[in-house]
This record gives sequence, structure tokens and C-alpha cells, in this order.
Amino acid sequence: MKFSTKAIHVGQSADPATGATVIPIHLSTTFTQEGIGVHRGFEYQRSGNPTRAALEECLASLEADGARGLAFASGLAATATALSILKPGDHVVAGEDLYGGTYRLFEKVWRPLGVSFAYVDGRDPSAFHAALTSRTRLVWLETPTNPLLRLADIAAIGEIAAAAGAWLIVDNTFATPYLQRPLELGAHAVLHSTTKYIGGHSDVVGGALVTREADLYDAWKFHQNAAGGVLGPFEAWLTLRGLKTLALRMEGHCRNALHVAEYLQGHARASKVIYPGLSSHPQHELARRQMSGRFGGMVTFEMEGGIAAVNSFVKRLNLFSFAESLGGVESLACYPDAMTHGSIPEAERRRRGISEGLVRLSVGIENGEDLVADLEQALG
Ligand SMILES: *Cc1c(COP(=O)(O)O)cnc(C)c1O
Repeated sequence: MKFSTKAIHVGQSADPATGATVIPIHLSTTFTQEGIGVHRGFEYQRSGNPTRAALEECLASLEADGARGLAFASGLAATATALSILKPGDHVVAGEDLYGGTYRLFEKVWRPLGVSFAYVDGRDPSAFHAALTSRTRLVWLETPTNPLLRLADIAAIGEIAAAAGAWLIVDNTFATPYLQRPLELGAHAVLHSTTKYIGGHSDVVGGALVTREADLYDAWKFHQNAAGGVLGPFEAWLTLRGLKTLALRMEGHCRNALHVAEYLQGHARASKVIYPGLSSHPQHELARRQMSGRFGGMVTFEMEGGIAAVNSFVKRLNLFSFAESLGGVESLACYPDAMTHGSIPEAERRRRGISEGLVRLSVGIENGEDLVADLEQALG
């Protein structure tokens, strides 16, 4: 089965009890058992729920054959479960351009418990190698990164991690399995904030882990039930509903984002435009090799004039909402320096290239000409 067929059908055959074509929202917290130890796979909603199970199966099928999935209450709840395999003294090597909440979880929750973290330039596989210690158990990366859209070479870093006996986990939120399948490139597991493109409509928070490694799956399945950060049935249903149109939506996001990036590249007020699909992107070749020939819906650019110029630009936008988050059908503009990345110390933001004039666009699936017209009038 091909991607868009799986997204609509895997885990979602007609309901055996009623024939309902669409998977029901199973709200029941408990499941009647026929006798001691005799049931149909479900006992109590935290341990397992048919709506959530359908999402877990469907999402896993999109990442790789033979993969299994687990769905959580948020992307960070999934991250917390991913890290549950660590013990005091363990070491993690991570790409330095991390989602702020991931960084906060590493530094404020796990470091005090005795786990150490090293951050390296994700663009350079040898930097991961150099940072390994005998206690490194996990290698963690995002690609493309937020907001600078830098790429990490998953295959090269996967080899380095495997040779060191460490697991490589890739946060695939920005690319989605439609554009990039890390498990097929050598990653051991994939993490998603399904809040973004997978849900796709900015109306449901969730997260997921997907892996083919039985050791990881078993440990995470245990933790999902033991710690309890599960996705609720209504959220699972909304996420499944979003997933059905992921392929169509991603085509629209990618088409519009390329259009917007090309438009901005020719605009005098955009001093720098970052999009992996532009041949001017320093890692365009890696993007072509590692992604599916399309490059996602995120475009970042730098405006001359710093914060004042950005402020008047975002106030003039009509179609783009000035808001955090990404991946929904509607277009958003965000100011990383004060919004998504405001909790990183200023000197560190500047060192990483998050400048005062940086604007991040989550390009939606409205008409592309309308989006460019909105940018045009707002840039003035
Ligand atoms: C949003 C996001 C997360 C966290 O997900 P939540 O659903 O907000 O908890 C993790 N990684 C990336 C790349 C994200 O964009």
C-alpha cells in the first residue's frame, strides 16, 4: 500500500460491532471481560483504547514497515517517555537547534536527575562522534531545525550512534513521514508533536513515538501505562481525521512554501531567505537526498531593521496570523527571538544565528497568490 492509502485505511477497518465506517470515539474507561483474563485486548482506557490504538497503528505504518507506535497527550509527553530509558550517569548527545520545550525538559528535569547532555552542531556528523562518551545512550536530533531550517544527515549520524551502542531518536515533526522517513535511514525511533502537521488543523495537542526496536517499544509501552501520559480518545480521533489528509496537505504546504521562499528571495527587504528547497540553501543537496523531493512548509527570513521592522510587518499582515505553533492549514508568522526561542539566553540565541530580524513563517494551504499578496502589502 502507498502512503495516502495507508493514511486513510491502516488500523481503521469497519467497526465489527456496528459496521461504522469511521472509527468511533471510544470513551468507555473500562471494557467488560468475559472471564478472568479473557478480554478483547482492552481492559482499562489508560492501558489501551481502540481509537488511540487505530491512530498508533496508522501512524507507525507511515514511518516504516514493521514499526509500532505509541500516542501521548503531547509531543513533550512523548519526549518524557522517550527519556524514561535513561538512568543517572547516562549521557545524551543532541543537535543544538532543539525545540525549546525539549531543551527545557533535558536541562530542567533530566539534568537534575543525574543525566548529562552535550549539544553539538547538527550539520556536522563528526561533531556527534566527538561528543560520544562511554555512557552515551541516546543521540537526539531534529531535522530540519527550528527556526533556522538546518539539516542533519540522519544516515551518517545513525551509523555513528549504532557503532557506539546508542539509540538515535529523530524528532520528525517538521518534515512528517510524508517528506522524510528516519527509520528507513537508520534512526532507531521517531518522535512527533502530532499537534503540528499530523493533526494539521491547529485544534488538537498530541505526540507520538514510533519504532521497530522491540526493546524501545516495550520500555515505552510500559512507561506509557505506568506514568500515564496517554492521548485521550477524542484527541486520538481528531488526530486520525487530520492524518487522513496529510499527503494532500503536505503537497499544498510545500508548493506554497516554495512559492513564498522564491518571492521573498527577490525582495529587497528580505536580507536572507532560508528554505531547504532553494538551491541557495547550503544543505540543499542533503535535503534532496534525505527528503522526498519536497521540502516542507516552513520558511524563515531575515528583515533589515531588526525588531522595529518586524513589528510593523507583523502588524500589517492580514492572512498570516502572528502566532506561535506551526503545521496547521492556516498561515502563521512568528518572531523566534521573543516567542518560540525567548527562553534561550540572548548571547546563545545570537551565537546560534537567531537574529533580531528573523521571522519564521508556517506557510498554510490557502491560495499561494493570496499569501504572497499579503506578504507584499505587509512588507510595504
Ligand atoms: C511543538 C514541538 C514539540 C513539542 O510538542 P507539543 O505537542 O507542543 O508538546 C516538539 N518538537 C518540535 C519540533 C515541535 O515543533
